[in-house]
Amino acid sequence: MTTNTGTSSSETPKSKLKPGTYYLPELPYGLKDLEPYISEQQLTLHYQKHHQAYVNAANSLLERLSRARQDDSEIDLKAATKELSFNVGGVQLHNLFWQNMAPAGQGGGGEPSGSLADAIKDDFGSFARFKKEFTQVANSCEGSGWAALTYCIQTNRLMLMQIEKHNVNFPPGCQSAILVLDLWEHAYYLDYKNERPRFVDAFWNIINWNIVKQRFSYL
Ligand code: FE
Repeated sequence: MTTNTGTSSSETPKSKLKPGTYYLPELPYGLKDLEPYISEQQLTLHYQKHHQAYVNAANSLLERLSRARQDDSEIDLKAATKELSFNVGGVQLHNLFWQNMAPAGQGGGGEPSGSLADAIKDDFGSFARFKKEFTQVANSCEGSGWAALTYCIQTNRLMLMQIEKHNVNFPPGCQSAILVLDLWEHAYYLDYKNERPRFVDAFWNIINWNIVKQRFSYL
């Protein structure tokens, strides 16, 4: 007689996984390799200081929450959960961002092919129309935020989203971000000062469509 444990044999029960912490992932290219579109100085600061700060803040919040649970002490959960959402959003969006770029001409730039190209054509009419819309979403983002191409597994549709900060205006659940562009000033100010549209134009030269395609096909 077998006992139903509630998990399939190929799945590791969540109760057996040790809670982990966030970490700064390795970049898939060198710090100079996105030049001239993103300079070494800009990328170094963005990756080593800003991304690292979100990692540290998310981990420190998780620790504070754990400590409060261990001590059974009170914690301002409204503030803590808001801060956690912001910092985890910052960690995850930067993870996606670094991966969806590659040096120009060495994986970066061009246009997508295969099933992703077909889906873009189905949902936007053409790649040119998609590029125009994504650019407008990016350039019109007020203050700090992100432009994202997302895919909804419930409707099988690609959708553009404008994420405020790292976590506002982005519905969780069926929506997965497959291409993201950081529009915080810390992402481009050293290279482009106040001229964000020039940074957005430059981004098209370093988009790693293979990764975006992979994310799309794994959904
Ligand atoms: Fe950033």
